[in-house]
Amino acid sequence: KAKQQGRNAYQCYTGDLDSKLSQRVMLRNDLQEAIDHDQLVLHYQPLLDAAGRIDGLEALVRWRHPVKGFISPADFIPLSEETGQIIPLSRWVMAQACRDARTLVDQGLLAGRMAVNLSPMQFHRPSFLATLRGVLDETGLPPSHLELELTEGILMRDTEGAIDILNALNGMGISTAIDDFGTGFSSLGYLRTLPIDKIKIDRTFVRDVTASDKDAAICQGVITLARELDLRVVAEGIETRDQHDYLRRHGCEVFQGFLFARPMPLEALIAWLEARPRQ
Ligand code: C2E
Ligand code: MG
Ligand code: MG
Ligand code: MG
Repeated sequence: KAKQQGRNAYQCYTGDLDSKLSQRVMLRNDLQEAIDHDQLVLHYQPLLDAAGRIDGLEALVRWRHPVKGFISPADFIPLSEETGQIIPLSRWVMAQACRDARTLVDQGLLAGRMAVNLSPMQFHRPSFLATLRGVLDETGLPPSHLELELTEGILMRDTEGAIDILNALNGMGISTAIDDFGTGFSSLGYLRTLPIDKIKIDRTFVRDVTASDKDAAICQGVITLARELDLRVVAEGIETRDQHDYLRRHGCEVFQGFLFARPMPLEALIAWLEARPRQ
């Protein structure tokens, strides 16, 4: 019986591995299709200040797969980093986000900045800044309407190089945010040396902020730190009134989450913005 169980376990294991591998190969081919044939779409999620006014948008990529439906970026961004496909994918995201932001600016609908997530490979490429300037030229988006979101991992990979790039972005009038703050195990000292503008508290800390003393302490600590360092602070993943009230009471300035709005395609976003009272 033990032998049988062992064999079953083994078969089960290889079965899984096989399907994972073939899934990856499939995904890789499909992703190329997606990049080449317009299967990627951007959704936009608004950020709100403490008074409830819109203070920026975040662009979030989705893959509209012809068979599998919408695939979440968590399921293809890491893979595309491994295959290098993140480069054409990121270029598409940047251009599309800037084009759409320009459309919103032209309609008087962009309050604050359009935030775009960066991948490590994209940020550390020698051609990153030139590509970015090219996109801004082509789309005519004023850099004062663009923000770039970076993770701690991106900044840790080559801090010296990162500082040069951040300074250049600063000079161009583009602002920068550290995304998923608190999940990166990086030293806090870098906040002193890196010219960044904003910190986004990761949603894993926001989730239980009203139930867990530890998460509350972390959120409060990050908010205090941000204030002392003159950085703006955003809480992401706000789903309940309680989370919102708590964080607002403790000095958080900007909020993002399903409580206010889910990420939406451009047309839905425009309708949503137009339905709001003018701010
Ligand atoms: P992120 O940059 O931290 O984006 C926030 C994520 O939280 C988004 O997930 C958003 O849909 C989700 N979210 C917002 N509010 C709530 C809420 O109230 N509750 C919950 N449960 N979730 C909320 P999404 O769109 O699945 O993106 C996941 C991650 O994929 C992003 O995390 C970002 O790291 C990455 N990503 C998305 N788009 C891009 C892109 O264009 N380029 C790169 N390099 N990465 C991207
Ligand atoms: Mg982000
Ligand atoms: Mg985030
Ligand atoms: Mg996050």
